[in-house]
Amino acid sequence: NGMINVYPVRAFKDNYIWIIHNEKYAVIIDPGIATPVIDYIGQHHLELIAVLNTHHHHDHTGGNLELSQLSNIQIYGPQKETIPGMTHGLEEGNIIKFPELSLNLTVLNTPGHTVDHISYYGSNHLFCGDTLFSCGCGRIFEGTAQQMYNSLKKIAALPDQTQVYCAHEYTLSNIHFATEIDPANSLLAEYASKVKILRAYNKPTIPTTLAIEKTINPFLRCEHPAIISAANQHAETQLSNAVSVFSEIRKWKDHYQSNVH
Ligand code: ZN
Ligand code: FE
Repeated sequence: NGMINVYPVRAFKDNYIWIIHNEKYAVIIDPGIATPVIDYIGQHHLELIAVLNTHHHHDHTGGNLELSQLSNIQIYGPQKETIPGMTHGLEEGNIIKFPELSLNLTVLNTPGHTVDHISYYGSNHLFCGDTLFSCGCGRIFEGTAQQMYNSLKKIAALPDQTQVYCAHEYTLSNIHFATEIDPANSLLAEYASKVKILRAYNKPTIPTTLAIEKTINPFLRCEHPAIISAANQHAETQLSNAVSVFSEIRKWKDHYQSNVH
């Protein structure tokens, strides 16, 4: 497993469709729509070999069928979810091999946003769909707070230098909420100024790294005194453990920002 190159294809308002490719072959993660992907592979003269889906939501799978009509591709996704055109159902610990790209990816179950959401990890890269965002995390649509908390813990246990490819550009709005609950975090303030500049030039803030996220992302800091105390104040009670802290700040953010997931 050597170096891989990953590029964003922008879709809808704030989705990133990630494309891993060399001079010849391409693998696509979460194509919510086919057109921009078809344009990209056409411009770069690539052969699409596979689509990887993290979960069933339409903004991640809407392009599957149109892409499958282009060539004989494999479509991977969580075994227990309904994924358009899926040829290979996956679960925890499966390894997918793409020798054309010198790439092996391991499947991690990361439930919470959806009950069978999966993430793909390999070559120091993590494709985590709507589980972890920079400075935030996915909404709990189908799973429980405990599941989402465990999924984030599992991701946080990967090496610090892991490059994290989230499926949405939510960073700036996530920072607004994080700053409200963690106002004394100077690393967060520093990160905020970098992100503001990137966004002013319409540049992606993704990938991020786990090292950065562990210092600024409140959802990875539920054991930190500042986050615990903010959550306790908001709940108007002493929350008894990290999962309750996580659950409290996740619900808090749901109301604070109803426009993002
Ligand atoms: Zn989703
Ligand atoms: Fe999404």
